[in-house]
Amino acid sequence: MGVESFQRPFFTSLRTKLVLFISLIIIGVCAGLSWYFVHQQADSMEKALRKTGTILIQSLVHNGRYGLITHDTDSLEQVVQGALSVDEVVYVVVTGPNGKRLVEKSKGMLNTLRQFTRTSDRPIYPSPDLATTALTIQDNTVQSKVFTAADQHLRLITNRGKAGALPTNVIRTGEILYDFALPVRRRVGASTQFGSLSLELQEAMQSEEDSQSPTVYGVFQVGLTKSYMLRTLDTMIWNVTVMALVFIVVGIAITAMFANQIITPLRQLALVAKQIAAGDLSESVETHSRDEVGQLTTSINQMTESLDQREQAISSYVDTITRQVSQLSTLNQTGAVIASTLDVEQLLATVLKLLGENLGFTRMILVFYKPEEQIGVVSQVTGLSDEMEAIVRRIEIPVQDNGGVTADLLLRGKPALVQDVEIATRRMYPPLYKACREIGIISYIAAPLKSQDRILGFIGTDRGDKPCTQADLDILMTIANHVSVGLDNARAYQALEEFNQTLEERVQERTEALQKANEQLREHDRLKSMFVSIASHELRTPMTSMKGLVENMLDGLTGTLTERQSFYLSRVKRNLERLTRMSNDLLDLSKIDAKVMKLSYAKFSIEDLVEEIVDVLQPVAKQTFLNLSCDVQTPLPPILGDRDKVDQVFTNLIHNAMKFSRPGASVQVGGRIRSDHMIEVSVRDFGCGIPPNEIPHIFERFYRGESVVVEARGSGLGLAISKSLVELHGGTIWVNSHVGEGSQFFFTLPVMANENN
Ligand code: ADP
Repeated sequence: MGVESFQRPFFTSLRTKLVLFISLIIIGVCAGLSWYFVHQQADSMEKALRKTGTILIQSLVHNGRYGLITHDTDSLEQVVQGALSVDEVVYVVVTGPNGKRLVEKSKGMLNTLRQFTRTSDRPIYPSPDLATTALTIQDNTVQSKVFTAADQHLRLITNRGKAGALPTNVIRTGEILYDFALPVRRRVGASTQFGSLSLELQEAMQSEEDSQSPTVYGVFQVGLTKSYMLRTLDTMIWNVTVMALVFIVVGIAITAMFANQIITPLRQLALVAKQIAAGDLSESVETHSRDEVGQLTTSINQMTESLDQREQAISSYVDTITRQVSQLSTLNQTGAVIASTLDVEQLLATVLKLLGENLGFTRMILVFYKPEEQIGVVSQVTGLSDEMEAIVRRIEIPVQDNGGVTADLLLRGKPALVQDVEIATRRMYPPLYKACREIGIISYIAAPLKSQDRILGFIGTDRGDKPCTQADLDILMTIANHVSVGLDNARAYQALEEFNQTLEERVQERTEALQKANEQLREHDRLKSMFVSIASHELRTPMTSMKGLVENMLDGLTGTLTERQSFYLSRVKRNLERLTRMSNDLLDLSKIDAKVMKLSYAKFSIEDLVEEIVDVLQPVAKQTFLNLSCDVQTPLPPILGDRDKVDQVFTNLIHNAMKFSRPGASVQVGGRIRSDHMIEVSVRDFGCGIPPNEIPHIFERFYRGESVVVEARGSGLGLAISKSLVELHGGTIWVNSHVGEGSQFFFTLPVMANENN
């Protein structure tokens, strides 16, 4: 406000400026014209007064000539009286040739004045000088003089006059008087000049003219006042002034009206422009003319209309965008809720809340469909009073194919847009319609919740006192689809939870059963191992005894044996040896399983052991025509281990090599020290070899090669026990074999610790 007042300290409206400007012009023009007119009139009136004076004096001279010549005073007085009848004439004086005033008449106040001035020697007014001048000049020109009454004249008159007050208004100070004087001269041959007089008079005058009379008979002097003229001029000035004032007033009034006509629309335009600037586009200005202002008004009205339309369009766009943002936000939030919760109740409550908060829906209802009972049950309600909510929650909507809104929703999955509840009365379930009326629902929309081929229920909502639109239904349908997905997810999750629960229970049951079975198996295993251990142990003693007895018999301690007896006893002895081996194997296995296999660690040389074993087995090799050789790298570092167990592994491998070799073939035993401080020993044969598919299984218990001939079949425990024994020493065992080319078994044993250093 301060800035505004600073910017326009002397604000003058355009209307005031226009009126002021034109008024000044009118006043100026009127004043100028009036002055010019009055001035012209004054000029012409003065000229007319002078002319009147001249004509009057000439007329006096003409008419009074006879009287003057004949000294007929009466005639002269008549002529003078006649001249005095003229308004402007204030005095008439007839002066004789000798300067004596023959007739002297004045009128009005001047008459009185003259009475005062006559007493003096020389009257101030009328001036006798004028008559004197006229008498002396030779031609017939009218002598004139202007007398302006000044203060000193009046004082002079007063002083010279008798005592007593000088009447006012006799001569006003500044009054101008025009004096005219014309002598009456003798004329020669001027008879024709008396044409208008009677014949008698003409003769008399002629005789006078012809006589030897003086050249000048006298002087007529007349005084005219300018007062009348001035009075007329005053009146004229007054009239002109009044006219000018009227003209000015009328002019100003017309200007004001004209200015109003221009300014009012301009003011309205300014007001409208201000309102437009303030954002109010409702106002428009009436067009009263087709001039520039009218055109401007029309343009501004069009502009306002256009702005209004644009603003409406913009606000409509903004509304649409805002609505869409709300819709997107709701969808986004709904999606987030669906993604974040699998609790159906919480999901539905949140979605209904979002519908109310973001999309401005007033009341929401969610109905679930129970197809088996053919009813719809109210699951969620928002936006209602507690009392109404209780009523609505009790409503069960029968779902029958009767063309009703609920049937469309729950049987056909068709969304519903009910713009007027009153019109859709017949299509609504009566208790539901009644509830709608009690709540004050005038229009509503509903969208089905579809899950794959199933209809789960529907969501219904309204907009309070506003009718619902197709756009509302579209967004509700989108949200309903989201909710359906959420419900699906939640239900799937619930099913999964239930399944998980069941599965856990089942797993628990199975685990318990398995544990039980395992325990039983362990018990069986323990019992088996115990049985094997006891059996093997118990069998070994009688078998050793039997073997000793058989050997004694074969050695002939019990007498000479027949060939057949020797044969049978040899067979018994072999089988006893086999049984002993098997029982030893089983006993070892049971010890390994029971983890009671004890190794008797001692330092020993692998070279010595190999040499010893080869020496022991050489006779057997020779029996089967095999070439058993030893190729051990020397010297090999000693080993800390159970010499008997390592012997057992060697023996087993060499036995197998000899067993699967053809007569005449070689069996080679090797040994070397590796860079990883392990002694690697090998038993190589050139026998049948092992098929590739059997190699992974040969170290398993009780495994025997399928291609192995019955005679060569053992218990299938040798390699399994060897593997366990090698591993108990911290080594590994493996085989390289090719069918038809033979096999080479390797095993490693760690070098004794202090020997590594
Ligand atoms: P067994 O006492 O029955 O020989 P092993 O555990 O010693 O049992 O051997 C298992 C199987 O490995 C044998 O049945 C055989 O098929 C195969 N096998 C072992 N050594 C050799 C070898 N040197 N040559 C070929 N096959 C062999």
